[in-house]
Amino acid sequence: MINKMKGTEDTLPIEINKWHYVEEIARDIFESYHFSEIRTPMFEAVELFKRSVGDTSDIVTKEMYNFKDKGEREIALRPEGTAPVVRAYVEHKLFGPEFPQPLKVYYMGPMFRYERPQAGRQRQFNQLGVEVLGTSNPAIDAETIALAWDFFQELGLKNIKIYLNSLGKTAERHAYRQALIDYFEPHLEELSEDSQRRLHANPLRILDSKDEQDQAFVKDAPIITEFLSEQSLNHFNQVQEMLDILEIPYQVDPYIVRGLDYYQDTIFEIIVEDDSIGAQSTICGGGRYDGLVEQLGGPNAPGFGFAIGLERLLLLLDEQEIEIPVEDNLDVYVMAIGQEAQGTALRLVQAARQTGLTADRDYLDRSIKSQFKTIGKYQTKLLLTVGEDELERNVVQVKYLASGQQKEVSMDEIMDDFIGVFRRHTMDTSVIDKFFEGE
Ligand code: ATP
Ligand code: MG
Repeated sequence: MINKMKGTEDTLPIEINKWHYVEEIARDIFESYHFSEIRTPMFEAVELFKRSVGDTSDIVTKEMYNFKDKGEREIALRPEGTAPVVRAYVEHKLFGPEFPQPLKVYYMGPMFRYERPQAGRQRQFNQLGVEVLGTSNPAIDAETIALAWDFFQELGLKNIKIYLNSLGKTAERHAYRQALIDYFEPHLEELSEDSQRRLHANPLRILDSKDEQDQAFVKDAPIITEFLSEQSLNHFNQVQEMLDILEIPYQVDPYIVRGLDYYQDTIFEIIVEDDSIGAQSTICGGGRYDGLVEQLGGPNAPGFGFAIGLERLLLLLDEQEIEIPVEDNLDVYVMAIGQEAQGTALRLVQAARQTGLTADRDYLDRSIKSQFKTIGKYQTKLLLTVGEDELERNVVQVKYLASGQQKEVSMDEIMDDFIGVFRRHTMDTSVIDKFFEGE
């Protein structure tokens, strides 16, 4: 037997309704904010991520699924969605006047990172993300954060919290970086191995460390806020004012830094406060990346975006016992009794499907008793039965299972107008309502 690869998941039919539910709500909300979907390839040139996410980031140094293809190209399975979207933006010149400005896009799909798998951390996982390209208006920061917040509210998530920070512009971050090096250097020996490595390469990342001893030093480390220029502070204040207007709760945390190199100014994370999903409590992260488009060969177009980890979100829906509608309803089940009736059953099941109802029948020669079990499992609405006697008289037994109401209907009539029959016999209003919705 060959098993799935470590860190990957199969999504089985019995759990797919959760995915559809979340995806549907996402599409509805994202489209109400006037975002359009974008789909980019699953693999890209390694160089794209080195140049954007950063040479010293965990993603590039440790987590990348990269390989050479048969044409000797250096390729990576995408570890995140922003760099590919920006690549597409530059490549297709989406900054041009013939495209909506700013460009507002969302994406959903698998990302790949070579990590130590655990609950809420896989090697292939799904992200739902958005990007806004072409403006540094702080309203975009606020409204995009509001979008993530609305999405979680709509799903009914509890105990979530927005943490907000500003990383300022490059020069400010450089000054801050030096201050961090000066602060941590005397304690170098006491820091975790990871943090020792980070000290000169990327000291901001130490702030992100999950190591307890590191965190003890982080507590008193200098804060970025003191290094922000007036312009950066002004931007940051405006974002906060707008979130206040929208009554979206948040907390400023000067120690959140995000793991990717391209961020500047506003960054944020959305965290679950109860430890329902354990250490993996960040369900959304994002921020502003005004230099990235230029860095990837495009014009000086600012950007803002976020990504949500869908597996973590689904774990959380489970943990918080949030009810998700079951999809597997069967409108019609056709039961043929005896070999002779099979042809008629086939015609009936197809007629039902062609009217837009979900319909099924037995393919395994199951006993009537076990077919009834199936019917119960799917919460079937209508049961159509044909046996020898019905065949002879050219009729079908129709039973509305919720009430037990049963009628005999002529085969010609039902084939002629499948839905009309139920209406005329005023049997199953729910089936009829579904069909005539919007009439
Ligand atoms: P973490 O600190 O948990 O590793 P991250 O900072 O690497 O997260 P981002 O790159 O910001 O994560 O990705 C955004 C979101 O994607 C995360 O908040 C998380 O919900 C999800 N995510 C990231 N890596 C994984 C993974 N390996 N498995 C499942 N979800 C993930
Ligand atoms: Mg990570």
